[in-house]
Amino acid sequence: MMPEIEIPSHYNYIGVFLSLSCNLSCSYCINHTVGLNQRRKHLNGKQWAEALNRLQTRVDLPITIQGGEPTIHKDFYEIINSVNPNKRIDLLTNIQFKTDVFINKISNDRFNRDLPYPAIRVSYHPETMDLENTISKVKKLQDNHYSIGLFTVDHPHTKAELEHARKRCLEEGVLFKTKEFLGKLDGKVHGKYHYEDAVFNSSPRSVNCKTSELLISPEGFIYRCHHDLYNKKSPIGDILSPNFKIEDKYSVCDYYGKCNPCDVKLKNNRFQKFGHCSVDITEL
Ligand code: SF4
Ligand code: SF4
Repeated sequence: MMPEIEIPSHYNYIGVFLSLSCNLSCSYCINHTVGLNQRRKHLNGKQWAEALNRLQTRVDLPITIQGGEPTIHKDFYEIINSVNPNKRIDLLTNIQFKTDVFINKISNDRFNRDLPYPAIRVSYHPETMDLENTISKVKKLQDNHYSIGLFTVDHPHTKAELEHARKRCLEEGVLFKTKEFLGKLDGKVHGKYHYEDAVFNSSPRSVNCKTSELLISPEGFIYRCHHDLYNKKSPIGDILSPNFKIEDKYSVCDYYGKCNPCDVKLKNNRFQKFGHCSVDITEL
């Protein structure tokens, strides 16, 4: 068995990108807007089991399984069920899977943890998903006692659809939340950023940066931030290397200005307190 990996106490998120591919194709997908290379090697179920069981997680710091769309990984169910039950799991998904199979293969206990938001966060995208079908799948899992809710991006072009979705979720007793749209649209940068000149800036520069997130790519590499992960820049380690440990320190980055919005936006931390930013950036 490989040595455990200690997670620094200030870390706020563990993101495991099982796959960066997706079975849908939304025009505003943030994965695509940063020039995502989807032709990646995937760790198999056995490798992920070994990797994830190394993580010294806490009850209030789940391992979030995400993508792309994580459920398209060929060993998805095996991976979830191979994680030691004392580790908490969250899932970000577009719920295109068959709910009967999901319920049959994964116990609702897997997603049981004490945080003020659902463990399974279903993303709803009006341009690629049917609302009624989505609500009925979410309800089915909810009725089977899975911690679940519907989340959507507050995109300026889909206001009417989202209002309708909010109303329908209220009627059906499904939790519905919107997330801020991050991106450049019609010449305007949308989103609240802790470092305003860090995104969509044509003059990148060098800074010191330190993260509060553990991000693991489909091939098992660990990156400082979403920008680096999506663009395959400067991995800081390999989750399958017995020697890997998190060095909780600042390091020089030459891409400030090209940061991914997810990394530098202002957001809620995992206790739903607003004002958190995933990275801390200082001048060189
Ligand atoms: S469902 Fe999510 S990951 Fe897939 S294309 Fe849409 S926004 Fe991107
Ligand atoms: S400065 Fe931006 S691109 Fe560089 S490591 Fe930090 S978040 Fe990532």
